[in-house]
Amino acid sequence: MATQRVTIPFPKHPKYGDDEVSAVTALIRSGSLSEIGRGPAVTAIEDAFAALTGTTHALSFNSGTASLHGALHAVGVTPDQGVAMSPMTWISAINAAFHAGSFPLFSDISADSPNLDPAGINPSNCSAVLATHAWGVPASMERFADLPVPVVEDCSHAHGAVYRGRSIGSWGVAGCFSLQESKAVSGGEGGVLTTSDPGIYQRAMTLGHHPFRLEEELTDPELVPLTEAAASYKFRMPALAAVIARVQLRSLPDRMRNSETNLAHLTQLITEADLPLAPVPVSDDTVRGWYGTPFTVQIRVSDPASFFAACKAAGLPVRALYADWLTSPLMTEPRLIERYWPHMRGRWMPPGKHDFPNYQRFRRQTILLKVPDVPSPDYMEQVAATLAATLQSLLSSGMKGT
Ligand SMILES: *Cc1c(COP(=O)(O)O)cnc(C)c1O
Repeated sequence: MATQRVTIPFPKHPKYGDDEVSAVTALIRSGSLSEIGRGPAVTAIEDAFAALTGTTHALSFNSGTASLHGALHAVGVTPDQGVAMSPMTWISAINAAFHAGSFPLFSDISADSPNLDPAGINPSNCSAVLATHAWGVPASMERFADLPVPVVEDCSHAHGAVYRGRSIGSWGVAGCFSLQESKAVSGGEGGVLTTSDPGIYQRAMTLGHHPFRLEEELTDPELVPLTEAAASYKFRMPALAAVIARVQLRSLPDRMRNSETNLAHLTQLITEADLPLAPVPVSDDTVRGWYGTPFTVQIRVSDPASFFAACKAAGLPVRALYADWLTSPLMTEPRLIERYWPHMRGRWMPPGKHDFPNYQRFRRQTILLKVPDVPSPDYMEQVAATLAATLQSLLSSGMKGT
């Protein structure tokens, strides 16, 4: 029986500090919380995201989901050809394909990462690819480059991440970031689309930004007639969210460095102890993002739910994987899809359960550990010792080695 537990509270700073409070106070005192054009708060967060990703444009939204809707609309997805994606993502990314008038076309992840495998995509079936950098592990973006369809990145787990020397959010025709509170950069709620294509930027803007902003910024002759009355989804980011996220972005590099140090320390401890566990690796010229770090368990996990429960009971900082969307009623019952998205009438084919072996294996063999973003050497030592005890007790209680 494992008696070793994590007793040190999860090390962290308050989610919002004095700088966020000052920014919010100053904004309220300004008397202007709703920027219908590209006002100062919105300009600051958009410019900061363009700088972070090295893109020429960034467009703020009131959620990450809305930014995905905007991006897929902008690249021109169709009801006849789906959006290729893996099921290893948040449900909003899946539903954004429906929002934009298309549908998700599920494809398996790679054997060695939680991310969509481009080799499984049939480009003649899809009008776009949506690649999530799941759990902060950047997708192998160069492998998508040969596909003749636009690639949108879902960067919601990977703020500040870099793949092979180039920022996440700049590889695809558009990158989409969530600023929801659980994410590495929070505005409370919010989303940002990054792109270096002015056409994508303008088309995404026509979906939910104010006529005042459209008037200021639309130049594309096809879009200019939409200035006064575009699609009006009302996707603008509230100024409050924008100023909070702007402050959060300033501390991101420091927090990422601390997380790296903590992960390196933990990795060293589990290697020294010879534990059958390793973080999903990234190459040297790649910087991971932070939203729970995936570790592969190198012995067969026959009962992932009990293993997760044992980790939790031992106080380990585990984050649950998302539900298996492939088996959710929304994905398996066509009448539900048709009720919410009438363009799918008579068209929805529920995904086959057995078509995603790498995804199923990842779900069974992975634990997600939250890595603190403040210096935490003692905590990491307790986590390593507790992982050792938990793996040992599960091994002896019937998990078979392979
Ligand atoms: C959080 C998240 C979203 C949605 O973002 P919201 O801001 O909550 O709308 C989309 N995709 C992924 C992968 C996410 O984690």
